[in-house]
Parts: sequence; C-alpha cells; structure tokens
Amino acid sequence: MKLVFLGPPGAGKGTIAVKAKDVYSIPHISTGDLFRENIRKETELGKKVKAILASGDLVPDEVTIAMVDNRLKEDDASAGFILDGFPRTIAQADALMEMTALDRVVNFVLDKEEIVKRLSGRRVCKSTGRTYHIIYNPPKVEGIDDETGEPLIQRDDDKEEAIRNRLEVYEASTAPLIDYYRQKGLLVDIDASKSPDEVLSSMVEALR
Ligand code: ADP
Ligand code: ADP
Repeated sequence: MKLVFLGPPGAGKGTIAVKAKDVYSIPHISTGDLFRENIRKETELGKKVKAILASGDLVPDEVTIAMVDNRLKEDDASAGFILDGFPRTIAQADALMEMTALDRVVNFVLDKEEIVKRLSGRRVCKSTGRTYHIIYNPPKVEGIDDETGEPLIQRDDDKEEAIRNRLEVYEASTAPLIDYYRQKGLLVDIDASKSPDEVLSSMVEALR
C-alpha cells in the first residue's frame, strides 16, 4: 500500500501513521522527522534547514525531493509506505508521480481552532520524536517521556508565531494538493476530529 497523508500541521497525521504502519506493515516516512534527525545529528543538510524549520517556512523543493527520492529507494519502501508531510507543494507532487504510483491520498480534515489547540499543546521527546499532547495524550509523568524518561520539549515551530506562519504556508502551498489529488481520483477525506483510534479505524475502513 502506497499512501500519502495530507492535511494541515497538527491534524494528527504522525499520530495515525505510527499506528497505521503496523496495520499495513509498511514504513512511516515523515519528512519533518527526517529533517529533525539531520538537525539533531548536525549533518550538512541539518545545518541548511535548521532556521527554515524553526520559522515554519518550507524547505526548498529540490532539497526535499532529493531526500525523499533517496528514502524511497531503500529496500523497506519497495512494497509500500506512508508518506507523512510530503508532498507539500504541487512541484513535489509532480516529482513524486515520477518516482512511483500511489494507491491513495488520505486527507485529514480538521477545523482551524482545533488545529491550533493540537499544535500548541504538542510536546515531543527530542531524541525519539515520540509525540504527546498536554491534554489529549499526556505522558504518565508530566514533562517526561514514558519510555526513555527524557524531558519532553515544545518544538520551536509549535510556538505561536511559527504556528501562524505554518498555517499560512499550508493554505498557500499545500491546500491546493487537495484538488490536485481529488482530480486524479486518489483522495480519501477523513474526519480527523475524532479520537486517534476512531480516526484509524475509519481510515482503514475507507481504504478497504
Ligand atoms: P507537522 O507534523 O506539524 O505538519 P512536520 O514535522 O511535517 O510538521 O514538518 C516540520 C517542518 O519541516 C515544516 O514546517 C517544514 O519546515 C519542513 N518540512 C517537512 N516536510 C516538508 C516538505 N514536504 N517540504 C518542505 N518542507 C518540509
Ligand atoms: P501532525 O503530524 O499532523 O502534525 P501530530 O500527529 O503530531 O500531527 O498531532 C498533533 C498533536 O495533536 C499532538 O500533540 C498529538 O498528540 C495530538 N493529537 C493527534 N491526533 C489526535 C486526536 N485524534 N485527538 C486529539 N489529539 C490528537
């Protein structure tokens, strides 16, 4: 199964992808996670994109496309994958079509007020990227990752100024992909306002 998860930041794509990858036995490929891993390891790519991520702008298409092209060539992605956070522009979507055919594009639908609540309450474990929410999905001990015991942090781009910018970037550059994929007959709309388990099961049902 070759899937793209499309939707605004904070809609729950990563949360559902972590569950769906086990349902379908396919890797979860998040471009945001790949960039953050490069930043953590201080690679050349990481140095190039660090300030861009902090501001909430998009990394240039050519850099992002090359990274995804390399990732999709790895063995584990040959039978299928969940692409989470890619494509985010029409140019990226065109490039993806050259790389591989997709089965479906899952569009996570959530209103703006809820998006802001989810993003502003999101906390992550810096080393593993495991995601929590201070109200909707709190860790067992406040501020501490359940498994590693490390402190949880708020991503720079989950602070108010960057959230506003990311939502504008989403509307201008990424939302046009909804029509792009609808016209190709690939789009499946999912109500992302329900609990994670309900979102997962309605998606699995819709993809059957
Ligand atoms: P979220 O899960 O909140 O939507 P991501 O983790 O997917 O955020 O992305 C974080 C940041 O990484 C983006 O704001 C952007 O700077 C960069 N990024 C991720 N994917 C892409 C992409 N496909 N094109 C350009 N930039 C990207
Ligand atoms: P995305 O990958 O689309 O940016 P995330 O999966 O990181 O979104 O989720 C954003 C925030 O919302 C996280 O704090 C997460 O714990 C929380 N969250 C995700 N899905 C749900 C849901 N269905 N209901 C309530 N909170 C959710």
